[in-house]
Amino acid sequence: MREIFFISVLFRQPRDFNSNIYQMEIFGPVPSRRLGISLGINNIPHKVCSYSCLYCQVGKGDRIQVERQKFYEPDYLVEKVREALKGITDEKMYPDYLTIVPDGEPTLDVNLGVLIEWLKEFGIPVAVITNSTLLPDEQVRAELMKADWVSVKCDTFNENIWHKLNIPHRSLKLPDILNGIRIFAGEFKGKLVTETMLLKSVNDSDADLRNTADIISTFKPETSFISIPTRPTAFRKAERPEEQTLAMAYGIFSQELKNVELLTGYEGNAFASTGNFRDDILSITAVHPLREDAVMELMKRSNGTEKELTEMIESKQIEKTEYNGEYFYLRKFKRN
Ligand code: SF4
Repeated sequence: MREIFFISVLFRQPRDFNSNIYQMEIFGPVPSRRLGISLGINNIPHKVCSYSCLYCQVGKGDRIQVERQKFYEPDYLVEKVREALKGITDEKMYPDYLTIVPDGEPTLDVNLGVLIEWLKEFGIPVAVITNSTLLPDEQVRAELMKADWVSVKCDTFNENIWHKLNIPHRSLKLPDILNGIRIFAGEFKGKLVTETMLLKSVNDSDADLRNTADIISTFKPETSFISIPTRPTAFRKAERPEEQTLAMAYGIFSQELKNVELLTGYEGNAFASTGNFRDDILSITAVHPLREDAVMELMKRSNGTEKELTEMIESKQIEKTEYNGEYFYLRKFKRN
């Protein structure tokens, strides 16, 4: 069993950017489908994003914006990472990546470049997962260049589908985003990967897939990930494609791209445990909805009880929801 020290800190956000929401700024280490063991860094308040994707796993958009601003002080986040790393006693359990993957769009943080630079002191590669919308901005590209691994979202390059699927801020323009990704891909020295989330009857037709793969091939990514929703999504109408469609998508992408991987599996239940069941559930579900079997596994490892779980649901700290025949537990954010 993987024993990983888990740091969870809940705190009240400053009122100037998103009052009345409690949020965790460091989470994990958690098993990541792309990055091995990843220590997550949440540099954005809950669901501040330039998109409001149909499939978003952190809920419907609280605030859709494209203006960059200051959220957290970078030194504050760096200290939290230091605390988390100090708690890991077994070197084998050190994260493979420090991953900036907030509950929103990480490039909206005006301090992103400084944060990446300062995180380098830990000697662990830094990854950023972005929705690509701010890549037309030269400054954003320059900041992302400092990362070791960057994932850019490439769900579709069809204007109509884009509006329906990603529900962009009204000022965004798809050709500008495409151009921004192209420039970034041409200059970035780290590992560039793309991620394409497929939704049934939205962006999974033969023609759409060919168009998406064709354009992605011009970025020459190291790996092109095709993903499907594996957790509850913001909108019920966001459905997974059929298996045959996924196989077709893999085939089409593989014709155009050198390394294609499907992200259709569950991450596994190797989540870290502090030994306190309530704290573990609240911390992890804040950023990562947990499937029921993972919750049961955590309950065993943390000496939790069904009674505690029921109390958390009844007191509206967490919510139990059904998705694709599976039950998941999600954090309910406290509001005063
Ligand atoms: S870009 Fe990510 S955080 Fe933003 S709405 Fe889409 S899925 Fe959610």
